[in-house]
Amino acid sequence: MTTACDAIGGINLAQGVCDTPVPQPVEAEAFEAVRRGDNIYTRMDGIARLRTAIAEKQQRDYGLDYDAQTEVLVASGATAGLHAAAMALLNPGDEVILFEPFYGYHVATLKSQRVTPVLVALADGDFALDVDALRAAITPRTRAILLNTPANPSGKVFTQAETEAVAEVCLEHDLFLFTDEIYEYFVYDGDRHVAPATLPGMRERTIVISGFSKTFSITGWRLGYVTADARWMGAMAYFHDLTYVCAPAPFQHGAAAGLEQLPASFYQQIAADHQSKRERIVSALREAGLTPTVPAGAYYVLAETGPLAGANAAEKARTLLRETGVAAVAGSAFFRKGRGENLLRFCFAKQDAALDEACARLRHLRCG
Ligand code: PLP
Repeated sequence: MTTACDAIGGINLAQGVCDTPVPQPVEAEAFEAVRRGDNIYTRMDGIARLRTAIAEKQQRDYGLDYDAQTEVLVASGATAGLHAAAMALLNPGDEVILFEPFYGYHVATLKSQRVTPVLVALADGDFALDVDALRAAITPRTRAILLNTPANPSGKVFTQAETEAVAEVCLEHDLFLFTDEIYEYFVYDGDRHVAPATLPGMRERTIVISGFSKTFSITGWRLGYVTADARWMGAMAYFHDLTYVCAPAPFQHGAAAGLEQLPASFYQQIAADHQSKRERIVSALREAGLTPTVPAGAYYVLAETGPLAGANAAEKARTLLRETGVAAVAGSAFFRKGRGENLLRFCFAKQDAALDEACARLRHLRCG
């Protein structure tokens, strides 16, 4: 798709697409799968090879034990995983608590099921969790909390203590915890991702949603997964089947090869590379007179819009695009109405040449 941004020789730091090369085993195995004819529907919950590789990955990374036959669903992206979970486990009129700033698809997915999203604001500046505000948001209709860590758009990585506090609330009120852990390998400064399902009593009630879009730079392949206790999985697989039938067959083989063959150093390199990209964009934004919040994870920076002209975030994003050719997302997309109007979100998961060119143009914004 050609965007307005491309048309003016722009650099798209708006969309959350990582355009770095696809890891060799992932790409090679997908091609090979097409050639050998693995192009037909798979089992509705995915090929055994990939389900096994996902179960092994959850064990290797977090010590989480999932049965590959009954507790893993290969989904058409994390997006489809959440959709299946919402269809299977929530009813119209239920409330689900999310943290603000939020990822728009989360809110929209819930609304599509006539579920009410209830927003709990994280602290301005450092995005700390206010446990009292979380508790105050619980009502008799609350059915689940949706936790995205590391988070889009804030880059927040929920700490062990914060994750424990969320878990405690789930246990106290008998709630599901839906997690979106798609940025699990994008954690910086030597910090680590806390997998909420590892906390005492949480495995049974946590619906773990993640995927390969970001880790393997394959956003267009539409491949993700859900791991959860067997008692929830049947209904999720059924609703995923109704909507998507199955995830793309040859790509499932590609992702399986990635999980099977890529060494630990591959995942460490992802964090190191993106940490370096983070430093570059943060410093360029500072030089431009915008005020970024340094993200602890994921691959976005929220920055205050400082000198940019415009009455609201959308106008400021347009000013930036006009003056520099750099596209960013208006902060208002991630907050309830009236908030986020002084923020822009920049995605830094770009190949170095494009990112460095964007940074140079941002610096020029101040000089010009
Ligand atoms: N979850 C979050 C928090 C995201 O930021 C994104 C993409 O930007 C997705 C899910 C989409 O994941 P997928 O491509 O696996 O559907």
